[in-house]
Amino acid sequence: MKTQLSMLQLHDLTFVPFITSAEIEERIAQLAQQISADYHEKTPVFLGVLNGAYQFTAALTQQFNGDCEVEFTKLKSYEGTTSTGTIQNLIGVNNLKGKHVIVVEDIVDTGNTISEIIKILETEEVASYRIATLCYKPEAYKKSHKIDYIGLEIPNKFIVGYGLDYDGLGRNLPEIYQLK
Ligand code: 5GP
Ligand code: MG
Repeated sequence: MKTQLSMLQLHDLTFVPFITSAEIEERIAQLAQQISADYHEKTPVFLGVLNGAYQFTAALTQQFNGDCEVEFTKLKSYEGTTSTGTIQNLIGVNNLKGKHVIVVEDIVDTGNTISEIIKILETEEVASYRIATLCYKPEAYKKSHKIDYIGLEIPNKFIVGYGLDYDGLGRNLPEIYQLK
């Protein structure tokens, strides 16, 4: 059965349906399979970036086949619908020394947040790190670091749902909406 998604109003903005929960789940299952194969002799630490990656981290780790650890960190770069460029570190990381870390992001936009996390991981002396992101905006990306696992490449338009918010609302939605 197909359900028809409708428009969404959050605060002052209107959003339209963009990616269904079935598509998201299918893509996450594929990524989990790929990561499970790549890490099959290791016990990786999935490092979810709060708050946005909470849904993706849960879904990805549930489908990971093998032993793993799950940790979270919290950084903040967005206000409203634009990146502020400055990043605050709200929950730090610890005990990652010698670990194989997979950073789990909701979305990579300019790449500022990922660059900041990479700097932190390098000072923590992790054994290795890779980046997994549910969404990636290639047109907005300003950095050169490779994004290892990409769920969905999307145009440079603001989205909400599946962990992503607009001023606090929309994170709980099981599908993704795009600004109208
Ligand atoms: P970056 O540092 O790469 O510019 O942005 C990364 C963070 O900004 C993401 O982890 C996410 O929290 C937020 N962000 C970037 N693009 C969007 C978007 O389209 N929608 C929402 N809700 N947040 C975004
Ligand atoms: Mg994020």
